[in-house]
Amino acid sequence: MPHHTTGLIHHPYRPPGDFQAPQPGVFKASTVYFPTVADMRRREWKDKSAYTYGLHGTPTTYLLEERLCSLEGGLQCLLVPSGLAALALVALAVLKTGDEVLIPDNAYGPNKALAEGELRHFGITHRYYDPMSPDDLSSQITERTRMVWLEAPGSVSMEFPDLREMVRRCRDRGVLCALDNTWGAGLAFKPFDLLGDQGASNDSEQAPLGVDISAHALTKYPSGGGDVLMGSVITRDAALHLKIKLCHMRLGLGVAANDAETVLRSLPSMDLRYKAHDQTARELAAWWQAQPQCAQLLHPAFEGAPGHAHWQALCEREPGQGLAAGLFSVMIDARYNQAQVDAFCDGLKLFKIGYSWGGPVSLVVPYNIASMRQAWPGHLKPGTLVRFSTGLESARDLILDLHQAMQAHLPMA
Ligand SMILES: *Cc1c(COP(=O)(O)O)cnc(C)c1O
Repeated sequence: MPHHTTGLIHHPYRPPGDFQAPQPGVFKASTVYFPTVADMRRREWKDKSAYTYGLHGTPTTYLLEERLCSLEGGLQCLLVPSGLAALALVALAVLKTGDEVLIPDNAYGPNKALAEGELRHFGITHRYYDPMSPDDLSSQITERTRMVWLEAPGSVSMEFPDLREMVRRCRDRGVLCALDNTWGAGLAFKPFDLLGDQGASNDSEQAPLGVDISAHALTKYPSGGGDVLMGSVITRDAALHLKIKLCHMRLGLGVAANDAETVLRSLPSMDLRYKAHDQTARELAAWWQAQPQCAQLLHPAFEGAPGHAHWQALCEREPGQGLAAGLFSVMIDARYNQAQVDAFCDGLKLFKIGYSWGGPVSLVVPYNIASMRQAWPGHLKPGTLVRFSTGLESARDLILDLHQAMQAHLPMA
């Protein structure tokens, strides 16, 4: 008889193999066993045909990757520890010294910071383009331009670009296009199928055409709980995927099995949650539009918002049927100073002050646009921008909350 310490580790019992239940099992591993040394030498992880090491994938991460591919219409997926890590992985995998990357001026802030920090140190230059001008994008593409970042809409000022036209321009010039797809989340539009119907033959077998890379902060809607950080990088080109995958492996990026399981558990309700967040955001946005304190409503599904026509063209498959995330911004009229706007945010009770979005709790953040952009964009009215992310609370209660804080801190007189 082995000693009980050995018995507890090398126990002979094996449960029956074919267990099926609504949620998949959670496989936690750094070490993965091989039956023989020969098997160890033979096994391949790059094509997901086997397992070699925790960082190279487990049944739990393979499963999540495949489900995310279905969500976004991609063929290959890599998981990383955060949405920002997804943006960084794409940049580090694709760009090399001497290359240039183009970034929209309204991009997620830390993506700009990465370009100004590490990328610059590595001899990779960047330029910011006007997200509302495909001509400005085209004019900034040179022989050094290796990749263009796209974001629809910009995550604070909410302008919706002409994504199809931008992608067409990149493809015409042979430049990789990478989309930060966190807002659309695979639900509002299909990032890999943007140009599908454009001037093509009737061949239904034709491969979809869109962005080359979709980076997604799973932290937001796929998690839905405000309690997990994770990101994904999805592609449809095997060679491009392999290039990013080898970089992912060399950087030692991986995600924890329990976190992957949390996202797997949230995915089935994602479509319902996204629509609920969207509906609530539109009720609140409509309320704001009627308030004199609101100089400008920034929500792509609303008439008059920057890029509304582009949102309609891309996201409305049928009139009135387009989806938008639970995110909008309000330009508070310039007659209110920063201290008053801050007091308004502090005065909210249901809305919490905090970054990120996609969870059950509504959030608010005031932003200083002047410090975030090259110049004050012509399509933005003067004022102080406040971004709202709607949670899953009742829209009526949220509006009552906005109303009480407004009465207390943004007086009309
Ligand atoms: C939140 C967010 C990210 C980064 O995600 P983290 O998981 O917080 O690192 C990237 N892009 C956009 C548009 C985001 O909203």
